[in-house]
Amino acid sequence: MSTAADLKQVPFLIGGEWITNSSSCITHINPATGEVNYQVSAGTEADIDAAVQSAHKAASNPAWRNMLPHVRAQLLNRIADLMMERSDLLARCQMLENGKVWKECKNQVANGAATFRYFASAIETLGSEITPPRGNYLSMTVYEPWGVVAAITPWNSPITLTSNKIAAALAAGNGIVLKPASFTPTCGIELGRICLDAGVPPGVLNVVPGAGGKIGDALVNHPLVRMVSFTGGTEVGRRISEFAGRKIIPAVLELGGKSPHIIFADANLKAAADAATVAIFEGTGQSCTAGSRLFVERKVYDEVLSMVMERARALHIDLPDAPGAQLGPSASFGQREFIESMVEGARKEGAEILIGGNRPADPRLAKGAFYLPTIVAGISHKAQIAQQEIFGPVLCAMPFDNEEDLIAQANDVNYGLASGIWTADYKRAWRVARALEAGMVWINTYKQFSTASPFGGFKESGLGREKGLQGIRTYQQVKSMFWSMSDTFDGGFSLAK
Ligand code: NAD
Repeated sequence: MSTAADLKQVPFLIGGEWITNSSSCITHINPATGEVNYQVSAGTEADIDAAVQSAHKAASNPAWRNMLPHVRAQLLNRIADLMMERSDLLARCQMLENGKVWKECKNQVANGAATFRYFASAIETLGSEITPPRGNYLSMTVYEPWGVVAAITPWNSPITLTSNKIAAALAAGNGIVLKPASFTPTCGIELGRICLDAGVPPGVLNVVPGAGGKIGDALVNHPLVRMVSFTGGTEVGRRISEFAGRKIIPAVLELGGKSPHIIFADANLKAAADAATVAIFEGTGQSCTAGSRLFVERKVYDEVLSMVMERARALHIDLPDAPGAQLGPSASFGQREFIESMVEGARKEGAEILIGGNRPADPRLAKGAFYLPTIVAGISHKAQIAQQEIFGPVLCAMPFDNEEDLIAQANDVNYGLASGIWTADYKRAWRVARALEAGMVWINTYKQFSTASPFGGFKESGLGREKGLQGIRTYQQVKSMFWSMSDTFDGGFSLAK
C-alpha cells in the first residue's frame, strides 16, 4: 500500500481520484528537525470548484443520501477499524508534521477511531420524532443532511479534530470538502484514503490542502456549499462567519481560548499542581483548551507555584519519537517566533519569567522549533500575555483574593472555551462553575474529554457544538412534517370551512 507520507509529491483527493499538482505545492518542513518531509500538492480555486461539484453530486445520489442508518453505521465502524489498523501511519503523519510526541499522536488516532464508532452508534439509534399533534394530523420532525459541508481544520490535533467533523458529517449523510491546515495536510489525506478503502462512495469526501487565504475563501463562498464547519483561530473564524452570514448558511466555529484554571486554598493542592502542569504544557501548549491562565488563591499562591515549577522543570522535552518524550517542538518555526515575541513583550513590560523564556540548551534540539516550558508571573490579568492566545508552552500565573475577584478576572477576556476549578467545597464549585463564561468546566480535574459530551465555546471561542448527540444534529437540517388524518381540509387560520 502506498501512502501519502511515503511519496515525495503527495497528491490530494477529488471524486475518488488522486490529483498531483506540481505547479502548486506546499514544501513540508519537520518542526523537530528543520528538514523537508515532503512536497504536498496544493489545490487551486479550480480544484476547489471540482471538489465541491464532486461532493454535491455524491451527496445528491440517493444511494448515499438515503443509505439506511444501520448500513451507514457499518461503514463508519469499518473506517474506525482501518484507522486502528493504520494507527502507526496516521500517528507518524501527525508527528512529522506538527511535532507532537509519539504517545499523544497514537492516543489521538484511538480517540479519532472512537469518534467514528460513537457516531456509528448515534446514527443507528437516533430516531426522528413524532411531536404532540394539535389537530387531526400526525406531526413529525425529521433530520436531513445539509448537502455539501466545507470542513476546515487547524494544525494542532488534525486526527481528532478532522474525525470530529468527518465522522459526524458522514453519519448525517453529507458530502464533504475537507481543507486541512497547510502544516498538517497528510492526516486529512490519509483519512480520505481510509474512507475510500472502507467503502465511502468516491466524491463523498474530498480532501484539498492549500493556503487558507487562497482557497479557503473560494471554498466557503462556493454557492453549492451549504454549511461550514471551521476549527481554527478567532480572526479567521470571524471572516468565515461573515461570508457564511452573507450566504445565509450555518457556520459552526470552534475557535481559540485563554482558559482560566482556578485553584482555591482548600483544594487537593498536589493533584491541582499536577493538573495545572498538564493543562498548559501537554502538546507544548498547542491546545485550544490549554489552561493558560492559572489563578491561585493568594494564601497558597507561592506553595502552588513552586509545585508547578518543579513539575514543569521535570518535563522531558525531546524529539517527538524519543523514548519517554513528553514535549516536542512548536508546530512551526513561525509559531515559535510568535511565542518568543509574546514572552519578550511581557518581559519588557516588567513581567517575571519564573522558568523557561528560552529555547532549550540541548544541541540535539537546536535545529527544531523547541521552546522551554515557561511560567510568567507579576502581571495583571489585563496584560497582553494574559489576554491573547499564545498557543505555546506559556503559563500566566496570577493570585486572587476572593471568589468575586476571581470570577471578575476569569471572565474578563474575549474567549470562553474551557475552564477548571479546584476546591473541596462542592457548593463553591457549583457557584463558580455556573458563573464562569465557558463552554466547558472541569471540576477537580482538567482535560477529561468525552466523545459523548458536546464540545464548543462561549463568546469569541465559537458558535455551535461538535461531539455528543448535538454533534450529529450540527450536520443535519430540521424538517417538520404534518400528515393529515382527516378526509377534509382543515388547515389555515381563517379561510378553511
Ligand atoms: P487558523 O485560523 O490560522 O487556520 C485554521 C484553518 O483555516 C487552516 O486550515 C487554514 O488554512 C484555514 N484558513 C486560513 N484562512 C482562511 C480563510 N480566509 N478562509 C478559510 N480558511 C482559512 O488556525 P491555526 O493556526 O491552524 O490553528 C490554531 C487555532 O485553532 C488556535 O486559535 C486554536 O485555539 C484554534 N483551535 C480551536 C479548537 C476548538 O475546538 N475550539 C481546536 C483546535 C484549535
